[in-house]
Formats: sequence, C-alpha cells, structure tokens
Amino acid sequence: MRYCPICDGYETEGKRVAVLGRGEHGLRESLFITNWASEVTWLAMATQHEVDPRELARLRAAGVRIAASPPHRIECGVDGVGVRVELQNGEVLAFDTLYPALGLEHACELATSLGACARDGGQLEVDAHQQTTVDGLYVAGDVAVDLNQICVATGHAAIAATAIHNRL
Ligand SMILES: Cc1cc2nc3c(=O)[nH]c(=O)nc-3n(C[C@H](O)[C@H](O)[C@H](O)COP(=O)(O)OP(=O)(O)OC[C@H]3O[C@@H](n4cnc5c(N)ncnc54)[C@H](O)[C@@H]3O)c2cc1C
Repeated sequence: MRYCPICDGYETEGKRVAVLGRGEHGLRESLFITNWASEVTWLAMATQHEVDPRELARLRAAGVRIAASPPHRIECGVDGVGVRVELQNGEVLAFDTLYPALGLEHACELATSLGACARDGGQLEVDAHQQTTVDGLYVAGDVAVDLNQICVATGHAAIAATAIHNRL
C-alpha cells in the first residue's frame, strides 16, 4: 500500500498497480501512474459513470483498465501476493501495489477559526507571500493551497518568514 505517486511512483515501474478512488480523483491518479507502471487498474467503485466519456477514453487510450465491478474485499500480503482484491462480481485480481486516491482533509480549523478562507477539503487560500485571507496570518505546508510535498512546505516557510520579517 502506497500513498503518494509523486513521491514514489517511479518505484512501481513495470509493476501491477491498483488505484482505489472515486470519480475524477481516481481517474487522474490512474493516469498519473501510467507514466511508470506497466499495468494500471482503476478500482472505480462504480463511479466511472460519473466521469466525462472523453476522460474515460483518454484513460483507456493510456492503457488503464477499469475494474468491472466495485471491490468487495482488499487484502495485503496474503499468500505471497502483494495485494489481493476481490470484486463484488466474484472476480479476484492481484497487484504488486495499491494507491488509495480517496482525497485529503486538511486540518485547517485553527486558521478558519480566525477567519481564514479554505477550499473544499480544507486547504487555505493564500497570496504570493503565503498570507491567508486574514491580514497578518501566514501558513506553510500542506494546509496551504499547493502541492503536498516536503520541498514545497519548506519553500512556503521561507517565503512566509521573509514576508513576516519585512512587516516587522
Ligand atoms: C505516507 C506519506 C508519505 C509521504 N511521502 C512523501 C515523500 O516521499 N516526499 C515528500 O516530499 N512528501 C511526502 N509526503 C508528504 C509530506 O509528508 C507533506 O507534504 C509534509 O509533511 C507537509 O509538512 P507540513 O509541515 O505541512 O505538515 P505535517 O508534516 O503534517 O506537520 C503538521 C504537524 O502539525 C501537527 N498538528 C496538526 N494540528 C495541530 C494542532 N491543532 N496543534 C498542534 N499541532 C498540530 C501534526 O500533528 C503534525 O505534526 C508523504 C505524506 C504521507 C502521509
């Protein structure tokens, strides 16, 4: 079970990869992983019908399989198989790796309680200097609107610290 294909997707090269995720989110992550994996299967949880048919065509053109029915049971490390997925239709699929692409909830309550604006999912709106919509309130890292990566978080911190210093 892996979490972040941006971080470690290259380690799936040539492997069988399952992506568990609803709608557009699962579709986007499946497409992203095709850059490395030789076999990507989207466990769409029956949400493929909610996706624009042109996007589905793009997915199929990239070689991504869409599981025929939603998963019923997922087990890791059973009988030497990386990930065993039993579908509701009884079909059993085996994978080396599974990425859950179920979305994130960012812990932004401290900032929103002070009046900062957040998007759905909790990432806070910031300006070019990492200032939230509240004057003098700066944020860095995953809680700010941007890519969730360590190097991005440290970059935010440098930008915010410089802006705060300049206000003193
Ligand atoms: C499994 C996994 C693997 C990852 N792999 C990579 C990778 O290989 N490379 C990479 O670049 N990124 C990776 N990431 C993403 C990376 O971890 C994050 O982007 C990074 O940690 C963000 O730093 P942050 O300081 O914003 O948040 P965090 O590291 O989450 O730190 C926030 C801290 O605040 C604390 N906290 C929260 N609320 C409160 C509160 N109210 N009071 C006090 N403390 C509070 C939390 O306990 C936590 O310690 C991975 C993430 C996960 C989950």
